[in-house]
Amino acid sequence: MKDFQVPKRVLLGPGPSPVDDRILRALSQPLLGHLDPLFLEIMDEIQVLLRKVFETKNRLTIPISGTGSAGMEASLINVLEPGDKAVVCIHGVFGERMFDIVGRTGAEPTAVRAEWGRPVDVNQIEDALKQTRPRVLAIVHAETSTGVLQNLKGLSELANRYGALLVVDAVTSLGGHPVSVDANGIDVCYSGTQKCLACPPGLSPITFSDRAVERIRARGHKVQSWYLDMSMIEKYWGSDRSYHHTAPISMNYALLEALRIVQEEGLEARWARHELNHRAFVTGIEAMGLSMLVAPGSRLWSLNAVSIPEGVDDQKLRTHLLEHQSIEIGGGLGPLKGKVWRVGLMGAGSTRENVVLALGAIHDALKAQGYDCPSGVANAERVYDRGEQATGG
Ligand SMILES: *Cc1c(COP(=O)(O)O)cnc(C)c1O
Repeated sequence: MKDFQVPKRVLLGPGPSPVDDRILRALSQPLLGHLDPLFLEIMDEIQVLLRKVFETKNRLTIPISGTGSAGMEASLINVLEPGDKAVVCIHGVFGERMFDIVGRTGAEPTAVRAEWGRPVDVNQIEDALKQTRPRVLAIVHAETSTGVLQNLKGLSELANRYGALLVVDAVTSLGGHPVSVDANGIDVCYSGTQKCLACPPGLSPITFSDRAVERIRARGHKVQSWYLDMSMIEKYWGSDRSYHHTAPISMNYALLEALRIVQEEGLEARWARHELNHRAFVTGIEAMGLSMLVAPGSRLWSLNAVSIPEGVDDQKLRTHLLEHQSIEIGGGLGPLKGKVWRVGLMGAGSTRENVVLALGAIHDALKAQGYDCPSGVANAERVYDRGEQATGG
């Protein structure tokens, strides 16, 4: 029988992102039982390290078994009950997904919208809170569909003023941008393993503040999902250790190794690396005469939305990158379909090597379509040379 083998792609799309060999080795370790004392130790270390990466003291901080969307669903359905109100900010695909989930809980969502490519306006959020006095304010920190970073400053004060819990999607920011759960007063925050944490997809780290836990305890109705009911899941991850579902053992090994790598690098160094590589990439793109979708100041470091120039075939360029260089980048979604490329520089993928590779490959692929522009590689290289001088490196 032939060995199972897939080619090694350079994953520079909206996720999954490249995975370190150390994590692949962790994945291939022998299985332990889900109640083996050694596995319980692994679970304990994961919880300690997740609190560090979320920058929180929250006791209830665990990985949900499932991808980022499972974390999104768990965060909303545990704090909302039928008849509750929720304000959901929508500036891309993932805000729309939150809105959909809120409706399915039997709660009543109110949308605060922004044009795709722009952050949501705080005054509009306040108006909606004032009018509806909701149980929850939900917002996406890093909108992977548009490349927008939403500023979280002041949101918890607003939510508190109107009696709402603040729920934040940090799927594409955790491990790449500061999320700072406690400092930002976030009540429920979830992420995914396959973006800036540089792990395969399969787990969704989540954290609940004491206020959010009290809300769960005070529920009048059972959570509609048996699988994502935190009051049961926390018994397995807490001191009871009672069986709820079989933890995905190997994925938890992978997450532990990924979190150790984050600790070894240090959160601040990791954020600085994401910022520098983003800045070099944007410099290169602009030197090519191309433009970014998002205005400076609201750009994600982990996901770069580049406007596709007039006359260039989106699909043809992405196929060229995949076939000639084995590089994956993302296309646009919804209203941005055919209008932007989404270049992810996430986790282990956020490197100088990948920035230079992506800029060169995009230049070549444009040329193959007869689109002439200067190369941005030298301009990007200069950003690094300046950066290294500035830090004395
Ligand atoms: C990727 C992503 C999700 C969904 O995660 P899945 O792992 O695809 O389920 C949710 N929110 C944001 C902002 C994302 O980028």
